[in-house]
Amino acid sequence: MTLTNVIEVLEAAYPPARAESWDAVGLVCGDPAQEVRRVLFAVDPVAAVAEEALEWDADLIVTHHPLYLRGTTTVAADTPKGRLVHTLIKRDVALYTAHTNADVANPGVSDALARAVGLTGDLVPLQPFPDDPWRGLGRVGELPEPLTLGEFAAQAAAGLPRTSGGVRVAGDLSRTVTRVAVSGGAGDSLLGTARAAGVDVFLTADLRHHPASEFVESGGPALIDAAHWATEWPWLDSAASILASSGVNVETRVSATVTDAWTRGY
Ligand SMILES: [Zn+2]
Repeated sequence: MTLTNVIEVLEAAYPPARAESWDAVGLVCGDPAQEVRRVLFAVDPVAAVAEEALEWDADLIVTHHPLYLRGTTTVAADTPKGRLVHTLIKRDVALYTAHTNADVANPGVSDALARAVGLTGDLVPLQPFPDDPWRGLGRVGELPEPLTLGEFAAQAAAGLPRTSGGVRVAGDLSRTVTRVAVSGGAGDSLLGTARAAGVDVFLTADLRHHPASEFVESGGPALIDAAHWATEWPWLDSAASILASSGVNVETRVSATVTDAWTRGY
């Protein structure tokens, strides 16, 4: 299989045209004609992931986060990102990114997150595209049976990979939750949308003190804040499965390297 064959499958599932205008998705380095036998899926294009790719002899790394989100004038190896580009090119490893186009896809990042925290029924986008009710940011669904907020938080923590930041809850732990909104990654731009959706709890990452405090204080849904990496990691398996079942003959692997920014909590 060539890199072009693999990219065709990924772009059918995650059309680049659906990425936000500020985003940078697609092929970062690699020759479209090169042969691809092994594909490693990871959240972040960082040195530890490149190491893992080299050890496993991967030909392609597919990451959720872009390496360069803003323009650059150099890939010299005197910065971590430039060094990564050098490492990958020297060893013939391609790098490809599906970011906001994977967030809004169906199934996308938040579908995988919803399943990981125990939403088993139908899911709809929290913020659908005006022209497509089945695609958009976040997902809303219902738990198979009501739980207390404390029980749901524990279930969510058990369903997500462990990180030093863990899972934090804002709200009355004894309140009943049935209807749940989730959004992988930094979801505070969706706080108002989650409130308007009438959910009992909104699970996302990177919530800040003031927006979270004011949201809960005003009687909104409860909040659960998980590690950014952990909320996006479940998508890797979904993306790897799409590639593996596409008929493209490649071996896939999901990186288990924790690349959340926070190494340890005290
Ligand atoms: Zn993210």
